[in-house]
Amino acid sequence: MGGEPLLYSKRRFKEIAELLKTHSDKITRVTMQTNGTLLNKAWLSFLTEHFPSLQLGISCDGPSSHDALRQDYQNRPSLKDVESAFRLCESENINIGVICVVTRSSLERAAETAKYFAAWSCIKAVKLVPCFDYSGHAEPGTRRREKLAQLIYTSRPEMLPWAITAEAYTRFLASFSSAWQSEFYRHYILEPDITIIRKFSNASVNHCHYSAKKCGHVLTLYPDGQVGACDELCKSDIGLIPTHRFNLEGFTERVAAFSNDAVVSRLQQACQACDYYSVCGGGCIATRRRLAEHGREAAYCQHRITLINNTSALIEATPC
Ligand code: SF4
Ligand code: SF4
Repeated sequence: MGGEPLLYSKRRFKEIAELLKTHSDKITRVTMQTNGTLLNKAWLSFLTEHFPSLQLGISCDGPSSHDALRQDYQNRPSLKDVESAFRLCESENINIGVICVVTRSSLERAAETAKYFAAWSCIKAVKLVPCFDYSGHAEPGTRRREKLAQLIYTSRPEMLPWAITAEAYTRFLASFSSAWQSEFYRHYILEPDITIIRKFSNASVNHCHYSAKKCGHVLTLYPDGQVGACDELCKSDIGLIPTHRFNLEGFTERVAAFSNDAVVSRLQQACQACDYYSVCGGGCIATRRRLAEHGREAAYCQHRITLINNTSALIEATPC
């Protein structure tokens, strides 16, 4: 689930639980990504009861970066609410994953961020996600904070003020991975490192950036009751479907039509001739398309190749 799912009512959540049961043979895992600010004991009990196998993720960008961008409509910072959610998960013995978006304000803070996550016993997985936002626009119907909208519309057209380059992300990840490998690997698993290691071992992986299971395998539930594909894509790519009209076959057909888009199919064809495909898996369709639109297609591939080469060197240097 995406957007902010805890804005959704519990009654509608029960309907989703019923919908998932009717497709249980086709669903491999159910995840929910929340900003954590509304998570409380009642929600945790409800989710545990109705979604017993749910993998809960909380978004947190680290101690020095989180509040720079994640503010509410009154421009109030949100890290203290996220930390309350972490404390609650610890007291209820709920394990969680964290998605940490790497923005410009994070770049010099890799080791500090790696250490911060290790201090929370509920955090068992950290997934680093680069913020490759090269241009910004509001989807129809999206509300934006005034300050944020100003930043978007007055920034340089080719890059938003919080976005990072593929090269900067590669350096950040090298530094974070180094801290994690030397001190924190017992506290949490780190993505994308673990997935790349699994790919080298020919083990199965869930991470869609590294797997053949991409956009047709991710559904996003929006707080207004509609279902769409992964929220990295534009809503218009696959379209939104009201929950009560959703069926998996129709959704799969829409995704297949999207894959025939000229840019998307050209990007996917490029992978077939690439020596790194067996490990790389082709990356994120939405991000590659965004970078390709800004002439940075080669930079995207180069950062994947560097990550893979760095991990390969690490495996070779690690005693059996
Ligand atoms: S858009 Fe990217 S993140 Fe979303 S499902 Fe497709 S590959 Fe995965
Ligand atoms: S490096 Fe680029 S072309 Fe090669 S497999 Fe990865 S995404 Fe595809």
